[in-house]
Amino acid sequence: MKQVSITVLVENRAQGHGLLGEHGLAFWIEIGPRRILFDAGQTNVVSHNSGLLDIDLSSMDAIVLSHGHYDHTGGLAAVARSKTSREKRVAAYAHPQALEAKYARNPDGTGRYIGMAADSKTALRESFELLKTEAPIEIGEGLTVTGPIPRLTDFEDTGGPFFTDAECLQPDDLTDDQSAFLETSAGTVVILGCAHAGIVNTLRYIMQLAPDRPIHTVIGGTHLIGAGDTRMNKTVEALRAINIQRLLPLHCTGFQAAARLWKEFPDRVRACPVGTKVELPV
Ligand SMILES: [Zn+2]
Ligand SMILES: [Zn+2]
Repeated sequence: MKQVSITVLVENRAQGHGLLGEHGLAFWIEIGPRRILFDAGQTNVVSHNSGLLDIDLSSMDAIVLSHGHYDHTGGLAAVARSKTSREKRVAAYAHPQALEAKYARNPDGTGRYIGMAADSKTALRESFELLKTEAPIEIGEGLTVTGPIPRLTDFEDTGGPFFTDAECLQPDDLTDDQSAFLETSAGTVVILGCAHAGIVNTLRYIMQLAPDRPIHTVIGGTHLIGAGDTRMNKTVEALRAINIQRLLPLHCTGFQAAARLWKEFPDRVRACPVGTKVELPV
């Protein structure tokens, strides 16, 4: 039977000897013989943790970038250094806007750069073959990258004051935000980066792409940090209707939203720090 698993490589919390946490996200996905890195975290923590977890980054077949923010792409240079063969150009799946300038507005109104760092862009150019995802694409062994996600709900937004310019005049709708999913015998497994498109928009879109199948597992950032009561209530209601078997909210979910989700779905939500290996139904 082929092995199918997701290991949490980078996350805000870590648990285990020597493992490091940082504000960021990266997963190591094993599907049969295929090895996929989903996001790269913020720094070289991705290679530090993979060393301790006996994960060989040089065996990577592809990398998926959920969006262009620094906490998901900042580890690209470290990942590129971990590749032993310079010849093997690994496919990198990202939406073209992931490489565009990205800012967040500070409380005092000034902007701070939160896009892809220069060394990440260099690593992407020199060590990977950039494949632009403007529509859903199957990247092997049944793993599909969604590409841009339609924004249909009236209660979800990108989750923060995001802009494409330093003056914070042009809102960034994070069109580059994408997720991945895998169909298994038990249902669909969904892997989120930050879900800037909204977790409900994302799940509903995936249910459209993989119709008539239940969603079994959802793992990743939900960007519910800072979500108000209305958004939280409507999100909980929608998640209840979707009837997810296992919900692993990480990273930008935030403590309050994670606590609320755990309270609403006590048997289905659990913590998932760096080092956790999530076995998937085959
Ligand atoms: Zn983000
Ligand atoms: Zn993030």
